[in-house]
This record gives sequence, C-alpha cells and structure tokens, in this order.
Amino acid sequence: MVLDQLTGVCPASAPESVTLPGALGRVLAHPILADRDIPSLARSVRDGFAVRSAETPGRLRLAGEVRAGEPALLPLPPGSAIEIMTGAPLPEGADAVVMVEHTTRDDTHVIVPAATPGLNFNPQASEASAGAVLLPAGERLSYPGIALCASVGAANIAVHPKPRVAILATGDEVVPFDQTPLPHQVRNSNTLSLATQVTLAGGIPIVLPTAPDRLDETRALIEQGLESDLLLLSGGVSAGKYDVVELALQQLGAQFFFDRVAIQPGQPLVFGRARDTFFFGLPGNPASTMVCFEIFARAALDRLAGRPHAPLPFTRASLEHPFSHRPGLTRFLPARLHPNGHSVARISWTGSSDVPAIAQANCFLVAQPDTPEYHAGDLIDILFLER
Ligand code: AMP
Ligand code: MG
Repeated sequence: MVLDQLTGVCPASAPESVTLPGALGRVLAHPILADRDIPSLARSVRDGFAVRSAETPGRLRLAGEVRAGEPALLPLPPGSAIEIMTGAPLPEGADAVVMVEHTTRDDTHVIVPAATPGLNFNPQASEASAGAVLLPAGERLSYPGIALCASVGAANIAVHPKPRVAILATGDEVVPFDQTPLPHQVRNSNTLSLATQVTLAGGIPIVLPTAPDRLDETRALIEQGLESDLLLLSGGVSAGKYDVVELALQQLGAQFFFDRVAIQPGQPLVFGRARDTFFFGLPGNPASTMVCFEIFARAALDRLAGRPHAPLPFTRASLEHPFSHRPGLTRFLPARLHPNGHSVARISWTGSSDVPAIAQANCFLVAQPDTPEYHAGDLIDILFLER
C-alpha cells in the first residue's frame, strides 16, 4: 500500500479501562489470558452415562449421578456407569460418555453400546491452558471476543482510546442536510456518511461546521480539525478555481505525501500531515468520499485505534453480467452481492455523485486498470460496504 508513512503510527494516548458490557467494538490494549485451564476439569458434552470404555459394550450397574454445577464426588466403581449431564465433571475412572439416546436402562442397570476412550467429553485444558494468550492486543471486540472475556473473568478491560476524527466538509453549494436546498445547492451527505464510516471503524466523529470555498475560513476550520487525532476533509481538492483546501493546508505548513491516486472515483485524493496530525482531503463526490475513506483513511484510523493489521474488507465474487471499462485506472463500481454470497451484479449509475445508485449497493466491484473487458462468470474483487 501507499500509506508507508503510517508505519509505527499508534494510539495517541494511554489505554483506558472499560467494563465488559460496554466493550463492543473496543480494541484490546493488552492480551486476554486464560485465568485457569479451559475446561478447568474434564467435562461431559452430552447427557448420558459416564463409563470405562474397556467395559463396553455391556450391562452396567447404575452407581449414581452427577449434575452440571456439582463436583464429581464419586469415583466410578468397576462394572458401573454414572448418569451424567452435559457440562458436569467426568467422574474419576471414567474415560467415555455414552449418549442417553444410545442406551436402555431400568432402575438399577443400563445397557450401553461400545464406546471409544475420550468419547463425548472435553479433557481438562483441552481448549486452553491457564496463562495462554487467547486474544492478542490489537483485537477489536465483537460478541465472540466479549464471550471469551466473560469466560475468563475479564470484567474490566484495558482498551485503546477511540481516535477522535474531525470531519470538515467544504463547498459553497453544500447546505445542512436538514435544510431545504435551493436548486443550485446540495444537502451535505458526506459529513454523515463519513461520520458513520468513522463510527463503524471504531472512531469518534467530530463534525466541524462546513467551510465555504474561501481560503481564510477554510484554513481556520482546518486548524480546528488538526487538534483531533485525524482530519478528514471532503471536497475542495480538485483543480477548480475555488478548490482551496490544498493551499490552506500548505499555509499551515502541511507535508503532502501524495495528492493524486490512480483510482476512480477518488483521483484527486490528498494525504499528508500537518502539526503532527494526519489528514485526508477526500474528493467531494459522495462515492469518492466513501471509497477513499475505506481504502485509504481507514488504514490510518485503524492504526490510531491500535489495530495495525486490520484487513481491508475485500473478497471475490463471480460476475453475473459482462461489462467493460476504460483501462488505466482502478475503478470502484457500485454493485450488489447476491444473498448466495457468490455472484455479484453491477448497479447502473451516472457516476460518483449518484447517491441513489450507491444506496442500493452493498459492495463496490474493483475493475483492474489493465483489464478492460470482464465476462459473465469472471471472478472479480469486491470491496464490502460495511452497514
Ligand atoms: P468537489 O470535490 O468540492 O469538487 O466536489 C465534487 C462534487 O461533490 C460537487 O458536485 C459537490 O457539490 C459534491 N459535494 C461536495 N461536498 C459534498 C457534501 N458534503 N455532500 C454531498 N455532496 C458534496
Ligand atoms: Mg467543492
């Protein structure tokens, strides 16, 4: 990737502690360890009878029962079976559990089929040994991770602070989304799509007032934005006479890493750093803003969030219909992955301003710069839109 400048970027401040029920989406600052063997003792995974496999098949005397939530007080006497419930500890001497469905019993005895050693129980520490690292630092918690933390008693967890991401829309024609625009104006949709993308990626969006296409006001708002951990600008980075974002950044002493990329939408993308804060100048067309966030800005946000190795949400699918595109640029085209998860269809659009088309998409197709023709059935990369 072209974001080598991000190597070594890490969260701006020290870890904080959160309680487990509020830990969804938080990024671990320290690994989660097993506080004891898992399971802590051999445990049945079926309702049935604990037996010695060497004594099966056969008719065994019933020597008692062990329930989930009870210790196994009774060792298994020779020639016997102990009735056992799922989750209950395996009695000493037993080396198999026969499922209740496979047995016949009366008041004193049970007839069991042949059982192999190790059948239907999890040995002590078979899932993890005490002290083992179960989740590394940098992992973002979802429900399986939260279940894991609960299972090892991690009630308070050290997590990285969420990066604060300033969002600054620009444009004289852009009006707040809750106002009625005049015919020559557009509602501000980028601020909200970006705030949503930032939230989904684990950041805290800080929305600044929209900057008009005037240098001084734009520069003053950029200065405010540079106080956050990351600054995302939308619009004002193309070649237009009133595209003042790069000049305003220059006047603030910005270092530019690049100001053009070979993708569409998103060609005029700007990436740099000013006053120790990374910024992205995202082209203002809604699809450009969304795509550039996902494939560029998100990498910076992930590192600031303590996730240096988060993967981009790419996968591959089979094209339902052929299409062609002009070679030379990598193109991101709105598309819909079929619920079968295998095939994908383009959504027709007028271009990167076409929000109604993008709103029907659940992914973007990635058309390669050296492949002008795609055929039905071709495997093609797709970039998921997180929803
Ligand atoms: P720009 O990158 O400033 O040249 O803007 C490109 C196109 O995106 C123009 O048609 C703008 O009106 C539109 N645009 C810019 N900012 C926004 C925004 N915040 N929300 C929706 N559309 C926008
Ligand atoms: Mg503009």
